[in-house]
Amino acid sequence: MSEKAEKSPVVVAGAGPTGMTAALALRARGVPTTIVEADSEDRNRDGTRAIYVHGSTLRTLERIDPGLGKRLVERGLVWPTRRTLWRGEEVFSRTYDDPGGSGDIPHFTSLPQTDTETFLRDALEENGVEIQWDSAVERVESGPDGVRLETAGGDVWETEYLVGADGAGSTVRNEIGVDFRGSQSENSFVIVDVEETPENPCRTNGCSTTSIPALAGETCWSSRSRAGGAWTSSARSPTTRTDSVARRSSAR
Ligand SMILES: Cc1cc2nc3c(=O)[nH]c(=O)nc-3n(C[C@H](O)[C@H](O)[C@H](O)COP(=O)(O)OP(=O)(O)OC[C@H]3O[C@@H](n4cnc5c(N)ncnc54)[C@H](O)[C@@H]3O)c2cc1C
Repeated sequence: MSEKAEKSPVVVAGAGPTGMTAALALRARGVPTTIVEADSEDRNRDGTRAIYVHGSTLRTLERIDPGLGKRLVERGLVWPTRRTLWRGEEVFSRTYDDPGGSGDIPHFTSLPQTDTETFLRDALEENGVEIQWDSAVERVESGPDGVRLETAGGDVWETEYLVGADGAGSTVRNEIGVDFRGSQSENSFVIVDVEETPENPCRTNGCSTTSIPALAGETCWSSRSRAGGAWTSSARSPTTRTDSVARRSSAR
């Protein structure tokens, strides 16, 4: 092993939600951990993506860093109403009496993934967990004495454990020959983020809205944040035209 190698008991590859949560959880147990991340520190992670955060996830975050789960709750929104539309007509609507539950942590909250990641990054900084940016893991050798990894920039790390949290196309998984198991959708998806303005407020008003996917239809799921931003995610079948999805999504 190289004398110049950096050492850390645990290295986490990837500073997405999974990697940051894993590093925080390890830190909470007193395990020194470093994150190596392919992107630069000033990367653009715009896009709402995982906007639904389950209560169990919030409780996990609260456990590993007291206050973190509650910060997500304060920032997010609990929808009281679910609506289902079919070709523009409402076919189902249900308003829950107690959608958030009665405790400090609701059943779920909804906020952009970028906000969740900001809270996680702040928590890492407060807990002294370092992220090495611009450090894409390129090679991984795993053996009985530990793991040796090399980054694209030529840095070498020696560690007892490497956590592969480097996303769907994980280099770590490929390097150690682990398959990505599970089902995969054949559909194409179009995601549209819509910013709410005071002149054009979002009509969903805190609802989760779904259009039933008829065979050639699309699914639309909308919500609205307390901070005033609105976002809409649209999924489409392969036969639906992208411009039609975008037009209809912005109209709801
Ligand atoms: C368009 C879109 C819409 C989505 N909508 C939803 C939704 O509505 N609800 C929902 O629950 N989920 C949604 N998701 C999924 C959600 O975003 C992911 O589940 C979540 O980001 C997974 O987190 P992760 O940390 O595992 O991986 P990622 O967020 O992919 O993070 C992986 C990290 O690893 C880094 N990395 C990659 N390769 C390397 C390498 N070789 N070395 C070091 N670092 C590396 C990446 O730069 C990244 O920072 C959506 C995803 C997309 C793309």
